Amino acid sequence: MKVNYIIVGCGLAGISFAEVLRRANKSYVVIEDNSQRSSSVAGGIYNPVILKRFSAVWKAQEQLDVLRPFYQGLEELLNVKLDHKIELRRLFSSIEEQNNWFLACDNLKLHGFLDPNIIGSSFDGINDTFGYGKVLQAGRIDTALLITNFRKYLESNNAIIKASFKHAALETHQDGIAYKNIKADYIIFAEGFGLNSNPFFNDLPLNGTKGELITIHAPELQLDVVIKSSVFVIPLGNDIYRIGATYERNDKTNVPSEAGKDELVTKLNKVLKCKYTIVDHVAGIRPTVRDRRPLVGQHGTHKHMYVLNGLGTRGVMIGPYVATALFEYIERGTVLDPELDIRRFQT
Ligand SMILES: Cc1cc2nc3c(=O)[nH]c(=O)nc-3n(C[C@H](O)[C@H](O)[C@H](O)COP(=O)(O)OP(=O)(O)OC[C@H]3O[C@@H](n4cnc5c(N)ncnc54)[C@H](O)[C@@H]3O)c2cc1C
Repeated sequence: MKVNYIIVGCGLAGISFAEVLRRANKSYVVIEDNSQRSSSVAGGIYNPVILKRFSAVWKAQEQLDVLRPFYQGLEELLNVKLDHKIELRRLFSSIEEQNNWFLACDNLKLHGFLDPNIIGSSFDGINDTFGYGKVLQAGRIDTALLITNFRKYLESNNAIIKASFKHAALETHQDGIAYKNIKADYIIFAEGFGLNSNPFFNDLPLNGTKGELITIHAPELQLDVVIKSSVFVIPLGNDIYRIGATYERNDKTNVPSEAGKDELVTKLNKVLKCKYTIVDHVAGIRPTVRDRRPLVGQHGTHKHMYVLNGLGTRGVMIGPYVATALFEYIERGTVLDPELDIRRFQT
């Protein structure tokens, strides 16, 4: 088999790159072993503002400009609804937080992302005495649906191999690479936290941050917007809500923990005033990087090997943006933004 690209990993990074290739009429095969699950458990929120600190996400508008047509194209390809333009509100817990919102609205970097009007108490099931601020240009991508359907699409095109990629079996040649019976011009490693087992790129400072989410059934809640307080409350329909997430730096397993659940329940109980039952609990490792920027670029010695990683806590927004940048770099020789280029870690 001869293809232009091998992609290792079929999470948000791998799918984003595969979709860029599809649009450019390049051939590819994806290798996926289900060892990581960050993308499938993700809350799926895209949001241009860091609501804890009231600062703008890095390159927020540029990422949003790529995001919209990108997921729309995937919706058309897969014939499913992925992009839910649901309203996102920051829940205030004091007058001081309201004042901080007004100050943030005056910040030019947040211009176009925050609505200056405070929304009053709105839902019987929420402790919302101090009201809300509305974030503009936010929404939710159904990442689990995207992954399931994108993998089906790959299967029907014989473009996915469900197996673990064995790095030791990779051969590098002058004009490309070979892996078992596949020859390719390039290989893209999009392994998420699995990058730590990749001998070609495991010197990069990918820390990994475990995140847990619970899913609840709350018929009395009747909430139709996403709420961000100390946790996200994300309506999924049919009285089901996803609550998350935790941030844990020591445990690097995908196993949901009692401690994670307790933390989410404690925080949720401060927000909700109604009854609920927990119906699911999941965990994944976010591929987070020391300097909070993605890991994109070419291997120092093996010129046909590339990495697409470090999507961190915001893979939905940043995935399409960095996949496009990497493609332009490889195929058109465009300069990579030094803030995402892995050469920033070379001494
Ligand atoms: C609890 C939680 C909530 C989150 N919520 C949000 C959110 O609301 N919004 C947002 O934007 N982001 C969110 N994120 C972050 C987001 O999920 C990540 O940024 C994103 O999923 C990273 O995508 P990735 O493709 O790089 O990694 P992954 O999703 O980990 O994908 C890597 C893939 O590579 C495969 N792989 C690895 N090694 C190999 C190998 N050797 N052979 C074959 N396959 C291999 C893995 O099985 C995996 O499928 C959340 C994350 C978590 C954990």
